[in-house]
Amino acid sequence: MKNGTSRAVLVGDLFQSDGPFLTIAEDFLAQRCGLCRHTADDEARFTNDGYWCSSCASALAASVRQG
Ligand SMILES: [Zn+2]
Repeated sequence: MKNGTSRAVLVGDLFQSDGPFLTIAEDFLAQRCGLCRHTADDEARFTNDGYWCSSCASALAASVRQG
């Protein structure tokens, strides 16, 4: 996490919402990628689809750039 956001505040914000945010929060707490289900690394980040490891998030970003 390099966005400078406190994890405590971030998790608290996530748990205030229902639905998919709970799944994302659970993945974050387990440090687990929401896509490949492998252990999230230090570069893991939140995407529109969940908490993803750097590999999955980079693949998503690449696919978006390619249209
Ligand atoms: Zn992944």
